[in-house]
Amino acid sequence: MVDLATQYEKIKNEIDTAVIDVLGSTAFINGPAVHAFQAALESYLGVKHVIPCANGTDALQIAMMAVGLKPGDEVIVPAFTYVATAEVIGLLGLTPVMVDVEPGTFNVNAEIVEAAITERTKAIVPVHLFGQSCDMQPIMDVAERHKLWVIEDNAQAIGADYSGPDGITRKTGTIGHIGCTSFFPSKNLGCYGDGGAIFTNDDELAERMRMIANHGQVERYYHSMIGVNSRLDSIQATILNIKLAHLDEYCAARLKAAETYDAAFAGIDGLAAPVREPTSTHVFHQYTLKVSNKRRADLQQHLQARGVPSMIYYPVPLYKQRAFAPFVDASMTLPVTEELCDAVLSLPVHTEMNDALLKTICDGVTSFFRDNK
Ligand SMILES: *Cc1c(COP(=O)(O)O)cnc(C)c1O
Repeated sequence: MVDLATQYEKIKNEIDTAVIDVLGSTAFINGPAVHAFQAALESYLGVKHVIPCANGTDALQIAMMAVGLKPGDEVIVPAFTYVATAEVIGLLGLTPVMVDVEPGTFNVNAEIVEAAITERTKAIVPVHLFGQSCDMQPIMDVAERHKLWVIEDNAQAIGADYSGPDGITRKTGTIGHIGCTSFFPSKNLGCYGDGGAIFTNDDELAERMRMIANHGQVERYYHSMIGVNSRLDSIQATILNIKLAHLDEYCAARLKAAETYDAAFAGIDGLAAPVREPTSTHVFHQYTLKVSNKRRADLQQHLQARGVPSMIYYPVPLYKQRAFAPFVDASMTLPVTEELCDAVLSLPVHTEMNDALLKTICDGVTSFFRDNK
């Protein structure tokens, strides 16, 4: 599904030299490489504060701890997302309120979110799923009307641009009160281990999140609140700093692959290409098809026989996961989420796709629909 080896080959000299420099410096934690990456990412995103941390799940947890949510508070989250988004809500004793998504973009929107607001709602977590932004401004308007926090889960969309009705273009993750991201190796900006970061333009929140990520420490050995230990190490930071310089080029390569797929699959009956959110660019963390008439398993098998991998992100709605049974009604069902879990299929999309590889994959898909009319 990804080709990290070829990507590494192209920047190997630069990466290896930088990693050896960190080894020689022995500044493994909080070294200059971490500060350099933090500053570079702040400038790339156009955001005041980037707080590096250990992974994307921690980023979400620290964000939720920082806005002072209390047990029983409700947090609105899509039911069609990676488990981490809702997991931290449960972990903190908060109540995840799972909502449906749009059938085309797979994202939540303001109407869906607003319909789920109750007296106990305190926060919304829009997930920019598969690499494009939710339509954020209407969500921010709803949040302002109801005095809610907005924490963006930007783990899949780093580099994407959102253009609001005010005509201003902003990077995803910098629109809500807090944005969270992951540097897991297969993410669009991935390191060679675990990593994550939190973004905010709010000085006070930034200070609190820095404190929480570092044992609630104000100054060494003085702790003003219960925190966690969540750090990005210097080796990962130096790798990320090198890869950040390539991020726009990586996004363009993914987009080119997606456009090739779009053209190849246009007009095929029973197959729907991903719908673009008009207010956002798409950085295609995933290229996700919808296969109708319960033919997904057959298509997947057909592809596999041709050496083409494909994956189902995500096969089960979060409310049907056993882990979330204590938080949801057993009869809960959301029509679009159910439909997507039955129909979605993601094709390989990465930064190292050449024409031959794209042709093999496109032919794999088109031949299935041609031969199985
Ligand atoms: C990857 C991911 C996370 C979690 O990131 P980790 O670094 O693996 O903890 C959270 N939310 C979404 C949507 C993700 O894709």
